Amino acid sequence: MLSNLRSQFPILSSGVGRKELVYLDNAATTQKPIAILDAEREYYEKINSNIHRGAHYLSRLATDAHEQARQSVADFLGASSSREIIFTRGCTEAINLVAQTLALSGCIHPGDEFILATDAHHSNIVPWQMLAERTGAVVRPVPLTESLTFDIEAYEKMLSPRTRLVAVPYISNALGVVNPVRGIISLARRNNPATFILVDGAQSVAHLEVDVQSLGCDFYAFSGHKIYAPTGTGVLWGREELLDMLPPWQGGGEMISEVSFAGTTYNTLPFKYEAGTPNICGNIVLSKALQYVKDIGVERIALHEQVLTNKLYDGLGAMPGVRLLGPRDNRGALISMVVEGVHHYDLGTLLDQMGVAVRTGHHCCQPLMQYLNITGTTRYSFALYNTDEEVEIALRATERALDMLR
Ligand code: PMP
Repeated sequence: MLSNLRSQFPILSSGVGRKELVYLDNAATTQKPIAILDAEREYYEKINSNIHRGAHYLSRLATDAHEQARQSVADFLGASSSREIIFTRGCTEAINLVAQTLALSGCIHPGDEFILATDAHHSNIVPWQMLAERTGAVVRPVPLTESLTFDIEAYEKMLSPRTRLVAVPYISNALGVVNPVRGIISLARRNNPATFILVDGAQSVAHLEVDVQSLGCDFYAFSGHKIYAPTGTGVLWGREELLDMLPPWQGGGEMISEVSFAGTTYNTLPFKYEAGTPNICGNIVLSKALQYVKDIGVERIALHEQVLTNKLYDGLGAMPGVRLLGPRDNRGALISMVVEGVHHYDLGTLLDQMGVAVRTGHHCCQPLMQYLNITGTTRYSFALYNTDEEVEIALRATERALDMLR
């Protein structure tokens, strides 16, 4: 289906130290197509200049390209305005931006509650713990159901007048489970319309179509490198009235309106949250990556990945001693498993020797690992360029590796 696009990703056929690479670590980072590599080169060959306030031609060119990129990101996410798009270093920085501005805003009080997901990535836990430490707020994780899905009934009971923030991953990077984000948001809104709601889109942005306005959250964060763009890029989408209300976090150039030793006034959105020279090239290229995905079609990509995921799920699930985490259905493009008597690291190492790149360990989800009483998992994750043949290779390699390890 999409396999003809594979040739657009040079690293996949480069051998990378071995003849054939089966790259199934896409949840950690995706490979980049030629169009993106070319866009990066083209920027430095034809456009490179610092943006804003430049009187000269190149500066205007770079500024226009950068702000057009912001508009493309806004369109991709269904944002109501490009003022709602803050460029960041990645998803982690986007979440920290929200947590830090909430800390500075003084609107978090002792006893306020932050409701988080047990399957959250550390970047969607630790910033809230740091905010809680500073403000006297309390972090409360929502338990999982027996089948390792978000326990929405328990969540509903946890909502109260003390709930100040709800922050959840759209898709869990360690389980692959798609969380019932719409239900989570509507229950939080019904409980208290003023609750801050953040959706971590790191694992959903490349796999699920998103329209932030219809989703109904306040903040949506993602990293560029998980959607075929370079590392060091990312986005925070925030509702304009909230971004307007909250204070800036980092100080410096660009985020100011006027500076004097008597005091400083701040720039308008989105620049208020973008101190210093941004990743100009990265942000422009990020918008091209979003366009790349849009041109192929997120739904088409998801369908392709779903077929691969289902086949791998069934194949791995049939192997003795294998426990797949989370149900088969309602799953993103990744599978996590534990195998009785086999350490995930040993399995990952053997798979690597057979040319299959997977990720092993806690996946930056230590609280989830504690909850499950395991030290880690072996995770296989897909992108648009993976093929049916690769699933078969991965299954055969896993079978062989497990035979060797038991
Ligand atoms: N949230 C989730 C669900 C993730 O999978 C990741 C990356 N593994 C992050 C947040 C953090 O992304 P980054 O390290 O690119 O900031």
